[in-house]
Amino acid sequence: MRLKEEAYRVLESIVGEENISRDPAVLDGYAWQFGCELYGPEDGAYAEKAFAPSAYLEETGDEASLASPRGSRFGFRPVAVVLPADTAEVQAIVKACNRYGIKFKAHSTGWGPWSGCGTAGMVQMDLRRMNRILEINEEDMYAVIEPYVVWSTLQAETMKRGLNCVTIGAGGNCSALASITSFNGIGYNNYSMGLNERNVLGVEWVLPDGEVLRLGSLGSGAGWFSGDGPGPSLRGVMRGEYGAAGGLGVFTRIAAKLYQWGGPTEMPVENIDPAATLLKEFPENCALYYPFFETAEDRDRALWMLGENEVGYSASFMGRGLLAWGLGGSNREASDTVESVAQTFPRYAFILVLVCNSAREFAYQQKVVERILEETGGQNFALIEVPEVRSMVALLLFKGGNKVNIVFQRSGAFFDPGLFTGSRRTFTAAEKLSIDVINKYIEKGLVVDDYGEGSWGSLFDYGHLTACENETMYKSTDPAACGAVIELLEDLDGQMTEHLFRLGHILHQQLTDGPRGKCGHDTMGPLCDGYQVWQRRIKRAFDPNTAADPTMYILPEET
Ligand SMILES: Cc1cc2nc3c(=O)[nH]c(=O)nc-3n(C[C@H](O)[C@H](O)[C@H](O)COP(=O)(O)OP(=O)(O)OC[C@H]3O[C@@H](n4cnc5c(N)ncnc54)[C@H](O)[C@@H]3O)c2cc1C
Repeated sequence: MRLKEEAYRVLESIVGEENISRDPAVLDGYAWQFGCELYGPEDGAYAEKAFAPSAYLEETGDEASLASPRGSRFGFRPVAVVLPADTAEVQAIVKACNRYGIKFKAHSTGWGPWSGCGTAGMVQMDLRRMNRILEINEEDMYAVIEPYVVWSTLQAETMKRGLNCVTIGAGGNCSALASITSFNGIGYNNYSMGLNERNVLGVEWVLPDGEVLRLGSLGSGAGWFSGDGPGPSLRGVMRGEYGAAGGLGVFTRIAAKLYQWGGPTEMPVENIDPAATLLKEFPENCALYYPFFETAEDRDRALWMLGENEVGYSASFMGRGLLAWGLGGSNREASDTVESVAQTFPRYAFILVLVCNSAREFAYQQKVVERILEETGGQNFALIEVPEVRSMVALLLFKGGNKVNIVFQRSGAFFDPGLFTGSRRTFTAAEKLSIDVINKYIEKGLVVDDYGEGSWGSLFDYGHLTACENETMYKSTDPAACGAVIELLEDLDGQMTEHLFRLGHILHQQLTDGPRGKCGHDTMGPLCDGYQVWQRRIKRAFDPNTAADPTMYILPEET
């Protein structure tokens, strides 16, 4: 597939010769993504998606523009990549795409297949030139950022000012704007600072037809401080709980809500190996607890009491299998840990971090924690007293990121079939269900054996809700293993829905249904109050030409 010369030259005139490419080697850099191995069709043949063909695209018979079959990591190759410098250029690109009947897809830091093109013949919009923090407003506690500002930069700058942001579990090198506007937003510090769906304030948004819309106080010329009003808010349409994953246009600048930070302004570390970075000094007025309990009920009661008292900076869980993988410095070491000690780790536990503003507040919070643990029978998991473990875990949790190598360590590929959100009680039951179902696939020898306990999760808003994903690792180059993961996903999603557990998202269903010409929302929507009808109406109203890649959001026609 090729973009006709006229259309290419128009895009080039917008961004300049240096900032556009159709070199296959460059384009394949965007097409290659972890996870694509699951989304390719089993037999190599993609079901036709009913999109109107563009007169500005030429068929070249080149198979490289199509996603590879199951087991290969190449998704769809874009016909061109463009790198706009500002909102005006984004708007001009979107208008050109509408004029030529070509689809586009926004890409900020591009950490997954959801940032790639969902069909052949699309333009990839790489936003890396828009990388500035435009303002940090200490008084009203927000930062105005562009798409390529990553969490670690934002957090380092805000911590210097006694402020903080919700760095997600994916780690500090992801786009803050992509997380806040368009995709997920789960991190360990959701406990005290909320899920990122609520951390978006003023927004500048290039709609799929090229019109620029400013939301919240920004839309009334009153600055960036509020995401709603005057009048009805559009935040639900723009973001919802999970985000439109590039299916509703391009967000060019936003105000990210910031929170008060009582910890140090800097945290010097030693050893830059990401698997073992250590804090030089444990910060003042901060603490780490790793209590475990006899029963899930005791654990839940302790969490409920902590949340009720608004004690703690972050609270989170990690399954024994995933924890064991994370402890190994190398693949071999991790493998040994999983086999030898993982099952001796406590089953019902959580990690709590305190970050306090003063010695007095610290003493108070510690007293509350200790009283609650006494009442619920919480005991200290000795692992956390090992200095290296304590330092590594503390640093990760202060920042809020993850030790992301864990999930790629064993087999180079992971997927999260057991992703759900709910109350603490549903969390316990849903996690158990996911363990039972995953173990069936482990027994068949098709996915990595972590006892089905690859889960991690965090609590939102002092435990009002819990999110959890049960990671499954598998061999990405083995089509049979990939097929088993897809089957596992459908099996578990189906059972979760039957048990009325709330799925965290159905993105994966969407991705695996795609090659079969189905839209995941048409599979899951009827089981969930028919929400897909409304989502489809939003897509059609905002994007009459289906210019913004619909494949990760919703296909405009029912399948
Ligand atoms: C190992 C690993 C761990 C992860 N862990 C977590 C986690 O703990 N919590 C979590 O929330 N997520 C997690 N993710 C998912 C995801 O990477 C993050 O949600 C991240 O915030 C998005 O960053 P990204 O680099 O994926 O962004 P991108 O891939 O650039 O974007 C994500 C989506 O948003 C769209 N998008 C990006 N920028 C814009 C824009 N300016 N306008 C409109 N649409 C846009 C893209 O098209 C894409 O669909 C993880 C991913 C990986 C690979």
